[in-house]
Amino acid sequence: MRPITKSRFKPVSYVYNPHGDAKDELIDTIGGYCSYCERPGYSSALDVEHIRDKDTHPQRKHLWRNFLIGCKNCNPVKSTKSILNMYFPTVNNTFEIFIYDQLGQVTVNTALLTTNAERDRAQMLIDLVGLDRRPGHPQFSKKDKRWSDRKDAYLLAEKYLPKYKAGDIDVDTIIDLAKAKGFWSAWMTVFSTEHHVTSRLIQDFPGTRL
Ligand SMILES: [Zn+2]
Repeated sequence: MRPITKSRFKPVSYVYNPHGDAKDELIDTIGGYCSYCERPGYSSALDVEHIRDKDTHPQRKHLWRNFLIGCKNCNPVKSTKSILNMYFPTVNNTFEIFIYDQLGQVTVNTALLTTNAERDRAQMLIDLVGLDRRPGHPQFSKKDKRWSDRKDAYLLAEKYLPKYKAGDIDVDTIIDLAKAKGFWSAWMTVFSTEHHVTSRLIQDFPGTRL
């Protein structure tokens, strides 16, 4: 999950009423991707997401600092869940706490997180939006394409890695592909040995905090 900051940008306003009016500026600030599953989306497929849910925290409903971007799958799964006691993309390095693979899975990085408390905090973030829902998961729905979209992005990155290494395509092409396909963490994982690419992924995806 891409670590995110909005602090490099000064918003037009710190209060948006209705909150949906913040969407265009949010996309300019942190990119047109779900802040949780990292899928890309046309504006109509993405919503202004309340970090602290607007039902439990009505006083934060219109505040810029409480906004991220959520997709049609992550947003309803998150619903009114609390974000306490878990890692979070605006606070922690939520890229390195997970492992991403070619099956479209997101799992806790147990090599990095060695204590049960750390692993629990990472798993809670997965559970917050159901990031591990795929066929076989008890709450998986066929309408939920996050896992297969993530898998497709991972496989596309793997397809282009040898072409990049051979010098057949340049870093700009990789960045264009990654931006179009989304799932920043999959590209970061596949290109982990290619530091020119990873530094551009960090630089070119708006609001990446690494
Ligand atoms: Zn999502």
